[in-house]
Amino acid sequence: MELRIAYLYPDQLNIYGDRGNILTLYQRCQWRGIAVKILTLGLGDSIDPDEGDLYFMGGGQDAQQIQVCEDMHRLKADSLKQAAANGAVFLTICGGYQLLGHYYKPHNGDELRGLSLLDAYTVAGNTRYIGNVAIERPDGSRVVGFENHSGRTYLGKDVTPLGKVIHGNGNNGEDGMEGAAVGNLYGTYLHGSLLPKNPALADELITRALARRYGSVTLTPLTDQFEQQAHDRALALKS
Ligand code: GLN
Repeated sequence: MELRIAYLYPDQLNIYGDRGNILTLYQRCQWRGIAVKILTLGLGDSIDPDEGDLYFMGGGQDAQQIQVCEDMHRLKADSLKQAAANGAVFLTICGGYQLLGHYYKPHNGDELRGLSLLDAYTVAGNTRYIGNVAIERPDGSRVVGFENHSGRTYLGKDVTPLGKVIHGNGNNGEDGMEGAAVGNLYGTYLHGSLLPKNPALADELITRALARRYGSVTLTPLTDQFEQQAHDRALALKS
């Protein structure tokens, strides 16, 4: 088996260690003998919608989001929508998450149009939400990470959040929700990196991404001793 990861805008959208998510996906596959192909897609590149099983887009400052947004609509949006319709997995973090929704309205300047793959929109607030976050997913599992954003994201009524906030701010600091998870589309504010200390989520993404071409896949369990320690340690951080 081979997992094909399409890494969108690695030079523009890669803050707070977001690249660690790619390394984690890569390493967890390698440990299991699953081959990994990483395709980087930067400014000026166009995409074949069938090339990726998992598309990743990290976070960035507003200035980078503006660059990316223009390029995305010119060269990539149709293919990304096609890839989503074909069942590819999307993991998007912070600025990338905002662009998966309908729009992000920065403090100054025009609205940045998103892909509208998620029924959600984001508006910049007057303060930044900065700090450690823990959330509880619908299955009771926990996910930990670090947030730093001024955007407030509001989900449409049929969009399920990734989880409920245990501590931190999450989507907007008001409704107690964090991120979004709809089918194979995942968005979250959690940097950190997210996946090294949330191994169950990493495996969920790998399983879903492989299922697209290989059907139902059961991953060999890993010991995850250090990953679990990192997770537990982050869960105990309250600010
Ligand atoms: N510009 C966005 C915000 O501040 C994204 C920040 C980020 O990706 N860390 O809301």
